[in-house]
Amino acid sequence: MTNRDKYANMFIVFSYPVLIIVIGALSWGSGFLDWTDVAIFALMYTWAGFGVTVGYHRLLTHGSFETKPWVRYMFAIAGSMCVQGAVIHWVADHRKHHAFSDQEGDPHSPHLHGGEGFSGAVKGLWHSHVGWLWEYHATSDYKRYARDLYEDPTMRRIHKAFPLLLLATFAVPFILGYVFTGFTLNGGLTALFWGGLVRVTLQQHITWCVNSVCHFFGKTRFDSGDHATNVWWVALASFGEGWHHNHHTFPRSAAHGLKKSEFDMSALLITGLEKVGLASNVVRIAPERQEAKLLKNKKPAAA
Ligand SMILES: [Zn+2]
Ligand SMILES: [Zn+2]
Repeated sequence: MTNRDKYANMFIVFSYPVLIIVIGALSWGSGFLDWTDVAIFALMYTWAGFGVTVGYHRLLTHGSFETKPWVRYMFAIAGSMCVQGAVIHWVADHRKHHAFSDQEGDPHSPHLHGGEGFSGAVKGLWHSHVGWLWEYHATSDYKRYARDLYEDPTMRRIHKAFPLLLLATFAVPFILGYVFTGFTLNGGLTALFWGGLVRVTLQQHITWCVNSVCHFFGKTRFDSGDHATNVWWVALASFGEGWHHNHHTFPRSAAHGLKKSEFDMSALLITGLEKVGLASNVVRIAPERQEAKLLKNKKPAAA
């Protein structure tokens, strides 16, 4: 990782929350949030969120379903707008995470970079949440871990257009706010604040919680072979990604929520796409395969 990338990532992580606090404090009480902002926030959160969960993650990283090329590209564009890295780097880093999962080589495990005791746990969690972004982010060999995407010229073009898509993730809410408030600059700026800055910051930290919280706190029931956990509130905010223990147990499964009580919006979207003919060969894990992987059914290792 070059110094330029390292400092750019540090800037991105720390500048948004500071900007949010400063702008929020300056404009407190002056018609700062209305229903247009809420609607634009929800639209952008849904578009970019599914871009990462269904697009970057379940479709492009794990091949949980198949779809038409234009849908793949649309998801790659939407995922880029979550400001978590260009598509080929994201996929390469994430496949490497699964390949090593809490072992040496995992780019963002909380169990490798802290050491013993409470301070070790805090250091490990910090590393897995954001620290890895200025040590390992986008350093996974993408010709090895994401060769399929690298060999697709259109995907490479979307990957290279990442800076433009970053611009779009802030320009789109601004334009929508400007237009829907009758061409007022204030409408554009508040939409940029909520639908751009606040939304991106929230979505980044929720995804990073999957890397930190969902490898440290939470529940397990399968023999996943690592420290991945299920955390309901992360799942709720991340459209189902917080059922991360289930995901590490069955990485190709299109659904990460495997029980009725494990609500998974991304799985619902994939089922919807399947119903309208835009998803096929959806990977589903049969109940008996799930049963066989339960920890309580694990056979003791031979002495
Ligand atoms: Zn994980
Ligand atoms: Zn994954």
